[in-house]
Amino acid sequence: MGIKNLWTILAPFCDRKPLYELQGKTVAVDLSCWICEAQNIAEYQVQPRMYLRNLYFRTCYLLLMEVNPVFVLEGKAPELKYDTISARNAIQFKGAKPRTEKANTGKGRTRFNFVLQQCEQMLRYMGLACIVGKGEAESLCAYLNEDGLVDGCISQDSDCFAYGAYVVYRNFSISTQGAYAASGGAVDIYDIRKANESLKFGRNKIIAMALLVGCDYSEGVHGVGKDSVMKLFERVSDENILDLIRSWRDKKDLYDKYERQLNDKTHCSSCGHIGKVQSHTKSGCSFCKSTKGCDSTKYKEERQAIKNELTIRNKAIQDPNFPDESLINEFLRRKDNVKTLDLKWKQPDVVNFVKFASKFLQWEEYYSFEKILPILTRWQCKYPEKILRRSDLKGTVVPDKIKKARHPKGVPSYEIIWTDPTDSFKGLIPEDQLQEHNIEPEKLWSTVEPQDLVEAAYPDLAEAYRQSKIKPKKPSKRKKKTVDDLSQKMENISLSEPKPKKIRKQTKKQPTLEELLKPTEKVCEVVDQLDSGSNKLKINKVASASRDLIRQVLKPNFNTSFKENFIQGAGFNSSTPTKFSQKDFSFDPDMSGFGDESDLNVTDIVDDIVSRDDVPNKLKEVAREYLKNPPQASDFVDYKDEEDNNAALNTSNFFLDKGPDQEDLFEKTFRKTLGFESDENSSDTEEYDIDEDNLMGKKSDEPVKKDCEVPGNKPEETDALSSEEDSFCVKYVPLFERIRNK
Ligand SMILES: [Zn+2]
Ligand SMILES: [Zn+2]
Repeated sequence: MGIKNLWTILAPFCDRKPLYELQGKTVAVDLSCWICEAQNIAEYQVQPRMYLRNLYFRTCYLLLMEVNPVFVLEGKAPELKYDTISARNAIQFKGAKPRTEKANTGKGRTRFNFVLQQCEQMLRYMGLACIVGKGEAESLCAYLNEDGLVDGCISQDSDCFAYGAYVVYRNFSISTQGAYAASGGAVDIYDIRKANESLKFGRNKIIAMALLVGCDYSEGVHGVGKDSVMKLFERVSDENILDLIRSWRDKKDLYDKYERQLNDKTHCSSCGHIGKVQSHTKSGCSFCKSTKGCDSTKYKEERQAIKNELTIRNKAIQDPNFPDESLINEFLRRKDNVKTLDLKWKQPDVVNFVKFASKFLQWEEYYSFEKILPILTRWQCKYPEKILRRSDLKGTVVPDKIKKARHPKGVPSYEIIWTDPTDSFKGLIPEDQLQEHNIEPEKLWSTVEPQDLVEAAYPDLAEAYRQSKIKPKKPSKRKKKTVDDLSQKMENISLSEPKPKKIRKQTKKQPTLEELLKPTEKVCEVVDQLDSGSNKLKINKVASASRDLIRQVLKPNFNTSFKENFIQGAGFNSSTPTKFSQKDFSFDPDMSGFGDESDLNVTDIVDDIVSRDDVPNKLKEVAREYLKNPPQASDFVDYKDEEDNNAALNTSNFFLDKGPDQEDLFEKTFRKTLGFESDENSSDTEEYDIDEDNLMGKKSDEPVKKDCEVPGNKPEETDALSSEEDSFCVKYVPLFERIRNK
């Protein structure tokens, strides 16, 4: 896509940078590029609406990274592009992305429009600006950049530069694999101003490239390559190149003269003065003021350059239409007035987003809500003034308190618990979903926001939190006491060795084990309270293990309740059928129903499930998997603490979330197709791997990763692919085949 060889020429001015380089920037996104990437994959019928999913997570990523995206959709394709488009569509897109009614029956065009509309709809629910230009999307992206409304364009199309863009972000990837894993993705940053500084290579020369070497609209001049064109560019400034090309036909006399001079045997081919080269070598040249030899330094190069220009010129003017002024106009003439555009991030529409996601992405409401809430709260933190001035707070949330300070990716942040005083989201998530997935209200309503944004948007909230840190509140003291009480009791029942000193201090007689095992109301209460997860207390490993043992003794009927939870967690006995995965059986200590994880009898229950006839096969499958690979103690303990460590890799708790309870159909199919086994230890950021890693097949094997490198990432690789490097076909489809054939 774009101008032939341009990426190769610009390679020396490209920096592959971690994505956080885009932080704080406003970027124009050429939406059809993103759709096409997913669309090519969709051709394999892996998962419909991959483009939506892809778009959603990439967009979230940008928003939570403090990048403001502006989405640009294409209007009408330029007339002169039709030929190339139809040819290209025929080969690459199989009609998936036709840009022209002429080339198609209209069926494909309708489909692509439908896709665009869906994307636009979703983005609008996220509050994002979607703008439609009068021409190609990349042209409007470029105008926005040229007018300083955006810092750059996310696009795969090098036409952007011809339309006036300064900075293009290419090969955008939010992959968490590879060299930039730690920074959460990478992008190639091309800044044309750098090329202009060192090569005097700017927009006009890029347009000249399009005319001579070729682009989407033009085949270029037959027999002219990028090297000779670059040589021609060396002796012309960017401002003058188009006039020079135009003069090729008009200044026939001048070029005829050059031609004659080059072939003139009466002039020395070394210095260019009158006389033969042999005589100059022997007795010198009077113009060069030499008595032996002549000065070849200037003319020889000049002669080569003129020869080069003449060759290109002679080939070019073979075409009576050269230079194609309509092509020059396409690039240089503005079609859109960007100054009137409203690019501000508007309030996300949570309710409609959740409805949309349930319909088009088949996400359950609770999951959609979990995903969209951080987008709303980030918007609120970023633009507090938009809410302050409003009397109606419908559709927004209000912070209740700061739960704790966090440092995801080293960014000082707060975990905030939000409330819904206007009942905007009441009833949005079906009650049975919350129960079925054991979703704690507090977790559902918490997000992580950068401290600086919180300080600015909710200064009182931040102040209250700081105060609470200085003077610990009384209630928390009281709670601490209960823990101490409990751990003391647990020490007493010899689950851990009591310290001799403590025993000596005790005035009371130490209770016997029998006495303690009596299921007193109080102990039950404390255990339940601890187990509910709603308190803020940290439970250490010992306490947790002891707790389970206590309960084991105190609640002889717990096995039944566990079994119920087990089946419920698997998505059975529920009114709405749920997709199904191993994740449902992750023994998350936060899930109160799974509090008995350390109990050894679990295996018996699972055995029982496997052996019974009246159990659905799906459940049996999972049960067998469980038996094969029972969770280890290390799977449960200190989950909360680890979360904070993991947080160093993420920008928000959005990324820490468990991800969809259902393993994505796309994910599953792809792993099977590509021969990757389902990764049980997949990180919580797996959500983000789906895009690139699955598209590219990157999964963890080093050799595969290398093979799957997007061409053009490394300058030395771009040359090999230079002629076709711009095509998505080359980039993605053979890659897929390659991996599949492995
Ligand atoms: Zn000479
Ligand atoms: Zn001379």
